[in-house]
Amino acid sequence: MGRIRILSDIVANKIAAGEVVERPASVVKELLENSLDAGATEFRLDVEAGGRRLIRLADNGCGMLRDDALLAFERHATSKLSDVKDLLSIATLGFRGEALPSIASVSRLLLETRAAEERVGTAVEIAGGKIIRCDEAAFAAGTTITVRDLFFNVPARKKFLRSEQTEIAHIASLATHYSLAHPQKSFALRHNNSELLSVAPATSLRERVFQIFGTQVLDDLVDLGDQGRDLKLPLDEGDVIERRFRLRGFVSGPQVQKMNRNSIYLFVNGRLIRDRLIMHAITSAYHNLIPPACYPFALLFLDCDLEEVDVNVHPSKTEVRFRHGSLVHDFVRDTIRETLMAQRPASRIPVPASPQPSPQWGAMLPYSEFSQRIEEMNFASVAPAPADGAPLPEFTLHRPPSPAPRFDFSDAPPMPKLAVPETHGPLFPDVYSLEPESLEALKDLRPLGQIHDSFIIAAGRDGLWIIDQHVAHERILFEQVLAARMNGGVETQRLLVPLVITLSAAQQIEYARIADELNAVGFETEPFGNRTIAIKSAPAGVAAGDVERVLFEILEIAERELRKASLDDLRRAMAASIACRAAIKINMRLEPAKIDWLLRALAATSCPMSCPHGRPIALRYPTRDILKSFHRI
Ligand code: ADP
Ligand code: MG
Repeated sequence: MGRIRILSDIVANKIAAGEVVERPASVVKELLENSLDAGATEFRLDVEAGGRRLIRLADNGCGMLRDDALLAFERHATSKLSDVKDLLSIATLGFRGEALPSIASVSRLLLETRAAEERVGTAVEIAGGKIIRCDEAAFAAGTTITVRDLFFNVPARKKFLRSEQTEIAHIASLATHYSLAHPQKSFALRHNNSELLSVAPATSLRERVFQIFGTQVLDDLVDLGDQGRDLKLPLDEGDVIERRFRLRGFVSGPQVQKMNRNSIYLFVNGRLIRDRLIMHAITSAYHNLIPPACYPFALLFLDCDLEEVDVNVHPSKTEVRFRHGSLVHDFVRDTIRETLMAQRPASRIPVPASPQPSPQWGAMLPYSEFSQRIEEMNFASVAPAPADGAPLPEFTLHRPPSPAPRFDFSDAPPMPKLAVPETHGPLFPDVYSLEPESLEALKDLRPLGQIHDSFIIAAGRDGLWIIDQHVAHERILFEQVLAARMNGGVETQRLLVPLVITLSAAQQIEYARIADELNAVGFETEPFGNRTIAIKSAPAGVAAGDVERVLFEILEIAERELRKASLDDLRRAMAASIACRAAIKINMRLEPAKIDWLLRALAATSCPMSCPHGRPIALRYPTRDILKSFHRI
């Protein structure tokens, strides 16, 4: 008696329908998922010509019983579910019973398999969906599936395949993702006979991250540990249940700023997914820590009750739907944010680093080339486009970084540069400063003076510090404004003469929507009719000449970017805007007492490493590097 059943029409019709074989990477994804579901611990992938000529995956999983080997190629044939109610709590990666027949219909496929409980194995050969042979044969326990000449019988599809390099990059990305999700298993990927990835079983996620990315990347990451929270979830009938959500993994410190989302690896209950909600939670966690158009590195594993996520949303199973989305969103955002805040890392002035050991795949392919390709990979394109082809609504907020205050060089002598060659980590070419360091040292800095009336120089127990006075003050004020907003104690200043301003229609709408929030941060305003308002008071510290600009800035934020975002994001954006206008400018001489105060207040902030717009506040030139530069060590 086999393990595989054909799903009834009732169940089959409830499964998200659609094509899964879009490109070689989608074949690899289905094969890898099948092997994982089969409990395999060793995965050996061989690929030729970007997967068009050959994709072979050998696993040491449970194998298929003889009766099942042919049945597996029927549509809706699966060993993973049987009942409609099984769809509500899917624990396996596969459940549609469609991958093998779909792949076999567009390629020449050979299945070689033996279940541990059987003495002989089975070989099944299929070309373009037609069975060519089905024989008994001697195999080791496990399954090897060889897919040759993908799309040989669908020329239209073949034409749309991208270059060999692009296809293998997608495949490598998938293998990498799954190897990160299963540190204790071994994965190998060869392309045209050269090894791209080869990782032996690791004892921890940290060790696997090291195997894949090397120490340089690991040094920039913060371990989330394994954080669980019992969330109170409302049920339809008005009841509330408590369910545990867990988040594990690594996120980068604010010094890592990627230009795209490709370094965000997301798994929900072990399933590799692309999810706008979680993506938004991650970007919100970094709000005011890194510039808005930048992304962190994140390797996240979210685990929860199977019933809390619907995985039957998309044929390629790369999307999920959370039953209690906004609670999950806030849990992810808060967990990441709190962990980052606890770290308080500072930027470091980079010095030439000694060469880092390359991860194993680096040895096989020129590292720069490979990492470049990994950078370019866009995992999202592995998933077929949504059925109606409509662009997906964009969740992430894009906002141009606020203009940096201009530094006036006109009468200043050339700036003495601490010239140090840039050292870019292989996978982080867009990192602008390196190595997080504890900012504890900030507390006992001894100010030495200012350069160009703009940057504070200070001696610390661990080296020389340079602090940007404007952004430092901006961070202090930002936190003050936010805190005051929360406990209702904002400081306001009454304007001598109310400032009357005219709003555009759009601004008028936003004004009406956020009037209470404006009031709560210190703007006392009154509608004057005909799209005109009078500003009577403004937040303390904002110069009278800047009041109008700050208000317009806030309305613009509310209008353009934050309509979809939370109230919390709006409040932060308002506080950032006020702080920026009220902060000490550059090109401003500061009294020693003021410098002292600034450093102490900065040390007391919850995030002294970057300003609310994400720019770095402090650079550190460690004593060790000073000694190195003078050849003293
Ligand atoms: P699904 O994964 O949705 O069940 P597939 O078409 O991918 O559907 O696979 C059909 C069935 O073939 C699976 O349910 C499983 O029983 C069997 N199978 C596929 N790949 C393997 C494998 N590598 N090892 C063992 N069994 C497998
Ligand atoms: Mg499957």
